[in-house]
Amino acid sequence: MDTKFDLVVIGGGSGGVRAARIAAGYGARVAIIEEYRVGGTCVIRGCVPKKLFVYASRFADLFEIAPTFGWTVDAHFDWPTLMANKDKEIARLEAAYSAGLDKAGVTIFRDRGEVTGPNSVRLVKAGTDLTAKTILIATGARPSLPQIPGRELGITSNEALHLERLPHSILIEGGGYVAVEFATIFAGLGVNTTLIYRGNRVLRGFDEDMREGLDAGLETRGIRRIYETNVLSLKKTGSDITVAFSDGTEAPFGAVMFATGRVPNVKGLGLEHAGVHLDAAGAIAVDAYSQTNVPSIYAVGDVTNRVQLTPIAIREGHAFADTVFGGKPTAVDHSSVGSAVFAEPEVASIGLTEAEAATHGDIDVYIARFRPMMNTLSLKSDRMIMKLITRAEGGLVLGCHVLGPGAAEIIQMAAIPMGMGGTKADWDRAVAMHPTAAEELVTFRTPTHRYRGGQRV
Ligand code: NDP
Repeated sequence: MDTKFDLVVIGGGSGGVRAARIAAGYGARVAIIEEYRVGGTCVIRGCVPKKLFVYASRFADLFEIAPTFGWTVDAHFDWPTLMANKDKEIARLEAAYSAGLDKAGVTIFRDRGEVTGPNSVRLVKAGTDLTAKTILIATGARPSLPQIPGRELGITSNEALHLERLPHSILIEGGGYVAVEFATIFAGLGVNTTLIYRGNRVLRGFDEDMREGLDAGLETRGIRRIYETNVLSLKKTGSDITVAFSDGTEAPFGAVMFATGRVPNVKGLGLEHAGVHLDAAGAIAVDAYSQTNVPSIYAVGDVTNRVQLTPIAIREGHAFADTVFGGKPTAVDHSSVGSAVFAEPEVASIGLTEAEAATHGDIDVYIARFRPMMNTLSLKSDRMIMKLITRAEGGLVLGCHVLGPGAAEIIQMAAIPMGMGGTKADWDRAVAMHPTAAEELVTFRTPTHRYRGGQRV
């Protein structure tokens, strides 16, 4: 067995796999160590299975309006069918990831990797030592649970993707991406869903109009929201879990899910043997080129807690390989990264929120609120929201926010003119496509409101 490599990657997720393949393409001898399944959080227990569940849950809305288009639908949902088909697709993707690594000439070790020095990694199960000119840590992050009594009775997104049967009711704690995505998944699949969040409205940090619009969308889907409240403890009561809340009340639920953020996977990696520094949040501290304080050790993706998004991990992995093995030093630009929340309604954003932009000089704000055309034959009250924020002088587009069907697809394309520093006049040169929702973004005429000297006018 070959034990000498130019690069040993620990973690076969999005960042690690990309780095391994690109480095191998530059001629490096590369090994990747993965203790679970190749593909990592995104493919195995994150973005991909989650999005398949999102599709499943959205049929509920379609069935609701189908009669207005003349369809009679007698719909029944079968959880085991979805689960089996999802598992089949994940297995296919995992095999494709492994095949891609094989094809690139990367050696895959299905083991746990532990750093034993600046240039050595131990395969824990096999008990073999590998030597590496460079080590890349790409071990991702895992759900973090509040330290409360009975927390072991709750689940996280990991288990939510493998439930044997759907619970009759679920309480989800958190107000971020995972919480709202899974709340709308469970609600769409017929589970009585309650969201509990310590803040005053979900998606802290997003534009206020998006937060408000999403909250209204959760309401119309029958999702109960309990704000400014925490879960204090869980205890088993028969087949249910009784939850005690910080407002002094208690209630039983079929399941409780924690969606209270994620923490970097650094435990048991042996980083202390090489003297790798962590930051205050417990993430691996790296420079713009993903290099740690130990020159031969790099880290990419969620374990560095820069921006916890798959495409960022991929970009960081690629940039690392270009820098170290391709002779092209490349730093990843983490500014102006768009993101999407695949809840129902969907939310996607890029650039500054209105509140942030208002502190950056005089701005104009354009907002359109309307019923998506798909809903106009029905009584469905959902509103789509499109919002553009521009600098008053010169019209530079500072932020773009969309809530409603196709929001993520629209913002993905809006990211191009945003990245090019496009002005409103540039956006307006695009001829509208009719009838679409996205045409609103290129046909705004007068600002809905303005900020002058920091004051809304
Ligand atoms: P987030 O950081 O988005 O949200 C965590 C939520 O939990 C926040 O509302 C936070 O409250 C709350 N919270 C944190 N600690 C506690 C606590 N001790 N008690 C009560 N509430 C608490 O994390 P997620 O787990 O939702 O997602 C993790 C990351 O994964 C995200 O940052 C995102 O980048 C990524 N992700 C991306 C997706 C996408 O692109 N569609 C989908 C899923 C995940 P507060 O707001 O007050 O801090």
